[in-house]
Amino acid sequence: MPHVITSLCMREGSCATVCPVDCIVPGNPQDQYPTYYIDPETCIDCGACVFECPYSAIFPKEDVPSSYTAKGGERISMPLGTKDCNETFEVVDHAGNPIQLKSTRTLAAGEILDLTPAIEANAAYFASGPGYGK
Ligand code: SF4
Ligand code: SF4
Repeated sequence: MPHVITSLCMREGSCATVCPVDCIVPGNPQDQYPTYYIDPETCIDCGACVFECPYSAIFPKEDVPSSYTAKGGERISMPLGTKDCNETFEVVDHAGNPIQLKSTRTLAAGEILDLTPAIEANAAYFASGPGYGK
């Protein structure tokens, strides 16, 4: 079972710096693939990335919540054009570079969210998307 990066990812890149098998990449083009992605065929489930993520965006595949209960104030980042995700959010990545996320939404406390679409999104990025063959 690989690990999965969900839409809670704010693309600041720390996880990729600790992965021992280099299976975490930034989505490209960013507008279409706004988070980082884990190659499920290469991930060895070491768990190092989970502890590195300041946004608690990474889960083992079997634990990706289908009913995530928001604390309130955290964000999801989605492909540009996603309905209701029209807040721009600026972060500084792990290397000190500014990152602008164009399609985010702030979650309300107690809001319930299904994060499991990220399982397919991570797999598809490498199986048929821009990560194929890399
Ligand atoms: S669990 Fe380990 S191998 Fe898998 S993506 Fe995270 S750091 Fe890489
Ligand atoms: S550490 Fe978390 S927020 Fe940063 S790129 Fe990885 S999953 Fe995204």
